[in-house]
Amino acid sequence: MKKYIYSTLFIFFAGFLISFFSSYYYFYEKYTSKTVVKKEEPYAKETKETKETKETSELTKTDNVEKLKDKPLYAKEVFLTIDDGPSSNNTLKNLKTLERNGVKATFFVIGKQAEKLPEIIKGLNDSGMSIVNHSYSHDYDSYKSEETCLNDFARCDSVLFKLLNKNPLKFIRFPGGSDNQVSKKEVMAKIRKDVVAKGLYYVDWNVSAGDAEPKKIGSKDIINNIMNQCKNRKFVVVLVHDAEDKKNTAEALDKVIKDLKSQGFIFRTFEDITPTEIKEMLNLKILNRGA
Ligand SMILES: [Zn+2]
Repeated sequence: MKKYIYSTLFIFFAGFLISFFSSYYYFYEKYTSKTVVKKEEPYAKETKETKETKETSELTKTDNVEKLKDKPLYAKEVFLTIDDGPSSNNTLKNLKTLERNGVKATFFVIGKQAEKLPEIIKGLNDSGMSIVNHSYSHDYDSYKSEETCLNDFARCDSVLFKLLNKNPLKFIRFPGGSDNQVSKKEVMAKIRKDVVAKGLYYVDWNVSAGDAEPKKIGSKDIINNIMNQCKNRKFVVVLVHDAEDKKNTAEALDKVIKDLKSQGFIFRTFEDITPTEIKEMLNLKILNRGA
């Protein structure tokens, strides 16, 4: 009897060991294998480690963002960026639209607006939206010197830190963009250099809604502007605005998101941007364009 029990136990134990090690081997192979890189993803082919990628990974190492794990690009990607908020009327409306469509966006917020509407900033953060520094004042006077400009960004960082209790991301967006026409060229060049030297990235865009002009643009034109520019692109950073007077943009957003989704675009944000996406933005001159 005893012998019988021992042999049964032995067979059971041996079976357990075999199934344990075979499943362990399977998952080990799955997560370490290089074949995870999908063929249809064009940018994933660039595996040569250029000097640029080394520099990028150096910078991202100091990012203090554990989520920055790398993976190949999707076939089509969109970073929807919403500037100049928060505003009491449009930001929450846009947030609802994003949530209803199950996508996330990046809000480039103005510090003084964030101070006035802290609950909206917290609401964006609780909903998993990315919140990025778009200066404290959005006043073009801040471009009069390097110091005034960088102080304006630092002030916005401290407002966001107080509200969200987390370190700001290593991204900023200059009011009017990095090649704006309101600053002096030499001063702006110095500011851009300084920002890059600090290990930050300044973000521009390659698709614009055209809703920044003082002349009002209708929601149909906003949709057409965006979709026309996305037609032949696989990787887009779209600029739209959510200041108080951007009601037409808020109205257009639902259709824009639905159209982009139906064209196969995957929505990404700066919160969990990957080193490969950073590299692609550098290539496309969306990040650190004139540095
Ligand atoms: Zn702006």
